[in-house]
Amino acid sequence: MMAERNIVQKKVCMLGTFAVGKTSLVQRFVQSIYSDKYHTTVGVKIDKKVLDVGNGWKMMMMLWDIEGAEQAHDLRKSYLRGAAGYLLVADGTRRDSLYLALEIQARAEEAVGEVPRVFLINKADLADEWEVEEREVEALAQKGWQVIKTSAKTGAGVEEAFTALARKMMES
Ligand code: GDP
Ligand code: MG
Repeated sequence: MMAERNIVQKKVCMLGTFAVGKTSLVQRFVQSIYSDKYHTTVGVKIDKKVLDVGNGWKMMMMLWDIEGAEQAHDLRKSYLRGAAGYLLVADGTRRDSLYLALEIQARAEEAVGEVPRVFLINKADLADEWEVEEREVEALAQKGWQVIKTSAKTGAGVEEAFTALARKMMES
């Protein structure tokens, strides 16, 4: 059937240090829910979501979210193997999370090479508490990153972020 031929499946990894909102972003995107209670992710959790990517094509995103790959040296090749792209997540209220994300990204690139990626700076709803400054966001953009401010809590930017990655993966 046409419908089946026009679907591509892609593995996407959520990367970033602890408590930046990786699990909450996946939950918001896949189930449109948000929970304030701290949910630790035990092992690897894989969620799926089918997206419309235009021209009659659909993409099934396999979203890999892991606990325990949250420091660069913990990142396992087995987690990243076969990843077609990743979302690198930092927490706008913690400047260190942005630099830790970049360390993790360097390791990820060693493992999977240059695959499509988007930088999310999460917790946009806490704008008053942000430590990450606009000039740091601009510096990332200058280095070639697409940077999207998100809030798993309100949903702001979330659909846009996953869709942006899907588009990049279709082009690559
Ligand atoms: P992970 O360790 O990266 O998977 O982070 P979690 O998704 O478990 O989130 C860590 C904590 O931050 C939890 O208490 C979440 O409720 C909270 N959190 C996640 N996203 C947001 C957000 O967009 N805004 C706010 N205010 N809190 C968030
Ligand atoms: Mg988690």
